[in-house]
Amino acid sequence: MSDKPEKFIDENGLRLDGRQINEIRQMKIKIGVISRADGSCYLEWGNNKILVAVYGPRELHPRRLQKADSALIRYRYNMAAFSVEDRIRPGPNRRSIEISKVSREAFEPVVMTHLYPGAVIDVFAEVLQADAGTRTAAINAASIALADAGIPMKSLVSSCAVGKVDGQLVLDLNKAEDNYGDADLPVAMTQDGEITLLQMDGNLTQEEFKKALEMCKEGCRQIMEIQKEALRSKFADDQLAIEVPDEMVESIDIAVTLEDVVEEERETEVEAEASAEEITKSDAEAGSEDAEIEDAEDEYSVEDLEEADADEEILEVEEEPVDLIDEEAGNEDEKVATEGSETREQ
Ligand code: UDP
Repeated sequence: MSDKPEKFIDENGLRLDGRQINEIRQMKIKIGVISRADGSCYLEWGNNKILVAVYGPRELHPRRLQKADSALIRYRYNMAAFSVEDRIRPGPNRRSIEISKVSREAFEPVVMTHLYPGAVIDVFAEVLQADAGTRTAAINAASIALADAGIPMKSLVSSCAVGKVDGQLVLDLNKAEDNYGDADLPVAMTQDGEITLLQMDGNLTQEEFKKALEMCKEGCRQIMEIQKEALRSKFADDQLAIEVPDEMVESIDIAVTLEDVVEEERETEVEAEASAEEITKSDAEAGSEDAEIEDAEDEYSVEDLEEADADEEILEVEEEPVDLIDEEAGNEDEKVATEGSETREQ
């Protein structure tokens, strides 16, 4: 372990790593890095490197551990043997068991466990490289991995710590500040500022404690923005990377064919509309009844006209016999009368 620095904050108010007292370390996030997991996240925060995998909700075995009305959250925080300068003995220890417990409790108020009775949600947080603030970094990564797994939550959880060095409160402690500082206050909270984790090492006055909480709140607010942005860009990337399955390609083909039909129908409609428009236009141009009649006559065929002429002839022919009959009848009458007179005369 390196020696205690003489000063943590220089005359310009900057810390050993060049940050302001209320500035968080650079954070990088990659989501969906473990294909086997339901959700996963790799997070770098300063020199911390954390990998989180989420499995579930899935059926909990052994069954006697199942909760009848909700899912069980299991959280395992583990530091890799190579994560710090001195090799860490593999397996759980007092510290990792404690961190696992408080981290699980940080998520219990937000994860909607009542939706999955009898199930378990497993969160594995592996610290690959540690540089102070690993529990807060793991919580930030776990929050994203849970969201990546599609587990319903009332809010994301964001976490950071405030400490005290050189008599001043500083946000997001680095290793030297954590190891040699006068206080360490890790906090996790929801979007609404509901605190789901609060621990404290060292001593703070009441005033300092209040101010430290305010600094944590602001730090968590910034972290939540980063978390949300990471999730948003993951979602956008996923949309771009969607592979279209074969059966969908087929249905796309069908859709294209249908589209053609629809397009054809539309074209026909457009043509019909256009000719209707033309008719209306020519009607308007004609402007008189005569023109309309002429137009109407134009519509008769030669056969129609011939037929009409033939009808007229028939009418004429029909009229003639009536006259003829009448005339003939008249002649007959005359004949009869003549005959009668002849007879009378006879
Ligand atoms: N650390 C270490 N060996 C250990 C435990 C912790 O070197 O067995 C270092 C590690 O860098 C860790 C830091 O001490 O990040 C602070 O540890 P702490 O227990 O305060 O937890 P953290 O701040 O990481 O949540």
